[in-house]
Amino acid sequence: MRHQGPLILGAGPAGCACAIVLARAGARPLLLDRHADAGDALCGGFLSWRSARQLQALDLSPEALGAHRVTRLRLFAGRRRADAPLPAPAWGLSRYALDNALRQRALAAGADLAVEHVREVERLMARGRRDWQGSALLLATGKHDVRGLPRPRTASDPALGLRLRLSPSATLSRELTGMIELHLFKGGYAGIVLQEDGTANICLAVRKSLLAGAGGSPARLLEQLARQHRNFGDRLEAGWQAAPLDSVGSVPYRFIARETVPGLFRLGDQAAVIPSLAGEGMGIALASGQLAAQHLLGGGAAAAPAYQTALARAACPPLAVAAAARALAENPLVQPLALAAVHIVPGLAELLMARTRIALPHLSCA
Ligand SMILES: Cc1cc2nc3c(=O)[nH]c(=O)nc-3n(C[C@H](O)[C@H](O)[C@H](O)COP(=O)(O)OP(=O)(O)OC[C@H]3O[C@@H](n4cnc5c(N)ncnc54)[C@H](O)[C@@H]3O)c2cc1C
Repeated sequence: MRHQGPLILGAGPAGCACAIVLARAGARPLLLDRHADAGDALCGGFLSWRSARQLQALDLSPEALGAHRVTRLRLFAGRRRADAPLPAPAWGLSRYALDNALRQRALAAGADLAVEHVREVERLMARGRRDWQGSALLLATGKHDVRGLPRPRTASDPALGLRLRLSPSATLSRELTGMIELHLFKGGYAGIVLQEDGTANICLAVRKSLLAGAGGSPARLLEQLARQHRNFGDRLEAGWQAAPLDSVGSVPYRFIARETVPGLFRLGDQAAVIPSLAGEGMGIALASGQLAAQHLLGGGAAAAPAYQTALARAACPPLAVAAAARALAENPLVQPLALAAVHIVPGLAELLMARTRIALPHLSCA
């Protein structure tokens, strides 16, 4: 199939942000996604203040989507706990709500969507059930690599994602209103935040070895963690075992695409993967989508390498800070000191949180 305009592979936050900007400029983008409808991607569901600004640039507001307003961070490590204000209000929003809103906005702006599971990219041709070619290729398949454009996976003990959603309850609402909680474990963490419908999204990023230690069973791992960490166990209310448990394997944290060829733009998780503890993956996805569109509109397909370099430069500092924070947060010897520091030094947590955001001077919203 030959499409006159740009082809965007993947209609998640990165692909849709890009499609909105391109469609508004009359560039007639075509989104290819393996699913006809937006699903509920595995994610912490924490939308940072910076991500919210990226959304506003696309005329979407978390508030209008009913998102839960979050103003404080609460950290748990063992029996210790520390609280800190966020640098600015953030939001708890399900991916179902966010991805649907972005898709609708892209289609309303004039983008088209076709259902296609892209299996391979070869010489700027996307191959699935059919072969697709466009004026440029924008790779936004997120967590999933396509043949021909793999992201290297070098970590000996990589991170895995697990997620479950708990029904609304008076206790969860009392404990979590206005809060993002991070429960730190040896080798990982769990983030908990309320979403627009009052459910609590519990998302863990843990080392593969932790899961192996639980016999490869995510449910057994949760039971173990709940037993070992009382504060985390308190959040897992009776009956949690009935909630569906989603998982994603081998997340290549710290991957950055530093170069590309003319005609191929890499967006979102296919461009840079920030440790999820930072809660900025969606911000990078939304920013990269808009930046790629601006480069494509300004310089055509030939602008891909310049875009990729600009994005890599902007993503590098927050990724480095997030990786350092992750290393500290996963180490049980350091966790008590880190929590004490957050307690004693006012502004320390805010500074760290601010340093893990992506800033792009080219974007009016950055
Ligand atoms: C455990 C964990 C917790 C996280 N928590 C947070 C958080 O709280 N806050 C935050 O900001 N970020 C978080 N992130 C990061 C965030 O989820 C990602 O950075 C973000 O989803 C990237 O957006 P994307 O558009 O690049 O990809 P995705 O959101 O993965 O979207 C990709 C799209 O491409 C489609 N697709 C995939 N493969 C193909 C194919 N072969 N053919 C066609 N279509 C395809 C999919 O259906 C999907 O629509 C977390 C990540 C993990 C692993």
